[in-house]
Amino acid sequence: MKRTIAVIRGDGIGPEIVAQALLVLNKIAALYGHEFTYTDVDMGGCAIDKWGDPLPQTELDKCLASDSVLLGAVGGPKWNDVPGPMRPEKGLLRLRAGMGVYSNNRPAKIWPQLASASPLKQEIVDKGIDFIIVRELIGGIYFGKHETVYEGGEQTAIDELRYSESEIRRIGRIGFETAQKRGKRLCSVEKSNVLDSSRLWKTVMHELAAEYPDVQLSDMLVDNCAMQIVKDPSQFDVIVTENMFGDILSDEASMIIGSIGMIPSSSLGEGSRGLYEPIHGSAPDIAGKDIANPIGTILAAAMMLRFSFDLPKEADAIENAVSKVLDAGYRTGDIMAPNCKQVGCTEMGRLILENLQ
Ligand code: NAD
Repeated sequence: MKRTIAVIRGDGIGPEIVAQALLVLNKIAALYGHEFTYTDVDMGGCAIDKWGDPLPQTELDKCLASDSVLLGAVGGPKWNDVPGPMRPEKGLLRLRAGMGVYSNNRPAKIWPQLASASPLKQEIVDKGIDFIIVRELIGGIYFGKHETVYEGGEQTAIDELRYSESEIRRIGRIGFETAQKRGKRLCSVEKSNVLDSSRLWKTVMHELAAEYPDVQLSDMLVDNCAMQIVKDPSQFDVIVTENMFGDILSDEASMIIGSIGMIPSSSLGEGSRGLYEPIHGSAPDIAGKDIANPIGTILAAAMMLRFSFDLPKEADAIENAVSKVLDAGYRTGDIMAPNCKQVGCTEMGRLILENLQ
């Protein structure tokens, strides 16, 4: 199979972790007879430095011309004082919108080897943690109008939260279809006791439920969901929610399974092209030290093979290699545990390559 991949190394630890993921993809290509061609794309702080823009149109076009996109992470303190529309993270929002990837899927699954890294009590972890958060990605409050105005002699900030039925319906379908492929339980999370957008969300989810009789739909308020994720995460199979709630809940979900360095995510729209990235940021505090955990990015590459290129065997091979390295007791600093061997980013990548078959 021949595929082109747009590669956004980004800022901070981005280049270090992406380098390891590319080595893994190259080995997969060699082992299984594929040809992956990479196009480098500047986005984030590095693009601001080079082009004065976190995502120039030419760079977005490279992504749109590729079969899929692999991203490290963007941002860092160097660009903290850049004005709003030019911030590195705006590049990411524009990339998501430009690619039309409206569905972000984040697995929250505990690796048995890392169970002790969870901050939850052992008896809660022992019940199992294995769910997916399907988050709407290009609507809601992050994409509404933002403004700060003077009213009555003081500043007032306004952020607009809008959702249309069609926006809710298309992400709802992803939620139901994801549940169909798993445990057939879908929990729709909103704040319908306060927000109109949430009341519409709930109505549309219940309309859709009629089309998916094999899926059991439940509703949960977002504040309750935040509690339930730490109280009894085993109750969840698939959570579907809007942009900001999903942003917050998926960070919470990533914490309970150990390190955010381990978790990949996929963002998909219509068609097979996706955006694949680890869920963490650019970790400027550890950038350039060769200590970052590259596993989230390597698993994001595996997700790309599975969901965009329909190569499940190859994706399994990567996940198995990661599992073997963890079985052998190798850990980066963020997931280090007693009696394990601490390795850096490059060494973790090398070990995964060595175990890749
Ligand atoms: P962060 O995820 O970068 O870091 C949080 C903590 O986790 C830090 O202590 C960091 O060292 C650690 N960490 C993160 N990834 C790690 C890894 N792979 N291995 C080991 N440890 C890891 O979040 P932050 O510090 O809030 O943000 C830093 C920058 O990243 C900010 O500019 C933020 O806007 C940006 N950011 C970018 C993205 C993205 O590109 N998708 C996502 C979130 C944050």
